[in-house]
Amino acid sequence: MYNAKSINADEFINDEEIMDTLSYAESNKHNVELIDSILKKARMRNGLSHREAAVLLDCEIEDKNQEIYALAEQMKKDIYGNRIVMFAPLYLSNYCINGCVYCPYHCTNKHIVRKKLTQEDIKREVIALQDMGHKRLAIEAGEDPVNNPIEYILESIKTIYSIQHKNGAIRRVNVNIAATTVENYEKLRDAGIGTYILFQETYHKKSYEALHPFGPKHNYAWHTEAMDRAMKGGIDDVGLGVLFGLELFRYDFVGLLMHAEHLEAAFGVGPHTISVPRIRHADDINADSFENGISDDVFAKVVSCIRLAVPYTGMIVSTRESQSCRERVLHLGISQVSGGSRTSVGGYEEPEPEDENSAQFDVMDTRNLDEIVRWLMDLGYIPSFCTACYREGRTGDRFMALSKNGEIQNCCHPNALMTLKEYLEDYASPETKTIGEQLINSELANIPREKVRGIVTENLKKIEDGSRDFRL
Ligand code: SF4
Ligand code: SF4
Repeated sequence: MYNAKSINADEFINDEEIMDTLSYAESNKHNVELIDSILKKARMRNGLSHREAAVLLDCEIEDKNQEIYALAEQMKKDIYGNRIVMFAPLYLSNYCINGCVYCPYHCTNKHIVRKKLTQEDIKREVIALQDMGHKRLAIEAGEDPVNNPIEYILESIKTIYSIQHKNGAIRRVNVNIAATTVENYEKLRDAGIGTYILFQETYHKKSYEALHPFGPKHNYAWHTEAMDRAMKGGIDDVGLGVLFGLELFRYDFVGLLMHAEHLEAAFGVGPHTISVPRIRHADDINADSFENGISDDVFAKVVSCIRLAVPYTGMIVSTRESQSCRERVLHLGISQVSGGSRTSVGGYEEPEPEDENSAQFDVMDTRNLDEIVRWLMDLGYIPSFCTACYREGRTGDRFMALSKNGEIQNCCHPNALMTLKEYLEDYASPETKTIGEQLINSELANIPREKVRGIVTENLKKIEDGSRDFRL
């Protein structure tokens, strides 16, 4: 039976409730009165239930869909302003004992090159990432208790935080590793991680079990209840996501929202971020062989409906998507993007030789970070290298309170300007620097409180004089 507060995966992600929701959405997809009332509720910025969001997702009325898109863009602006947070993935190891059929790291793939970064390798990679201008990383590793035990992950985090190269520093390490124990989540918390990210892949239990034929990840409940254990282990910023293309997108859309509702109901803290990856080609993986792939139009609709349903969450789109697709969804509520990414184990300091491909998926947006920063500014966004919240203790319910009422942008906006300034001083090309300086000057006037404007103006000057790491 469906129970959002339950600790049991089959109850908080309940198949019967999802199927009922899908038929409710199907039968109401032309119900203008209901759709209008849901849009009215969405405008209050308090979010939508999975049932309400499913009706919007199914809605086939063109002018209502245009309202959904416009509202999603407005919602992101109202809460987070026009900043877009930047990050890069760092793959530590592609050793894995699981059999995920959509990932080239599955252990039966005998021809992919297996690699694991040593601490010396990590130092070199992090210096290369710092030299690009990155301040926020998401570390990734396959599940392998022998090759990638928790001690290796913890040591790697310590190494990453310890490297200060020129003016560079990685100030936030988000972690994307396999579902683990409460005890290990406590260790990750003590290591000072930002967000713990774990994609569900699909919420459809039967499909999940077929897509993960063996290995620890085969256990649906262990995987689906991982965020509960993370929360119990003291990690209060968690990131959800599904891999669109594995199952019917409507099913996973509803499951994803039910998972967010569960975290709110059980812990009072919803997901810090939601990612929306789509399945991509990779070594040994033909994305076209998955029948449930979604078009760019459906993808755009999914993004905008998630934004309306969970307005407080950060929404992430990676370099799995092309420039044009990323541009489209930036206007529909995305608040965080990766840039200059390598999806191989290593590859930042020196690109991998062609015959040594260890990438998890093919990157669609291959531009470098400077190009991405310039592109975002040309679109009217402020690229932000801010990592302030968790360093200021604004995590979990403290963060949620500020993001739900939209006050977080009083931090996001000034921090975006100050961290962009650091980027311009230390890493930008002359052209990007010129555009960025103009943007910062014009955005300063948009800081509403005079006192804050004064502090930021002063800090911008100090950054020019060589000081770093100011934050609100
Ligand atoms: S998705 Fe993760 S667990 Fe599955 S094979 Fe790839 S690295 Fe391993
Ligand atoms: S102030 Fe907080 S929410 Fe805003 S960009 Fe910085 S870390 Fe993110």
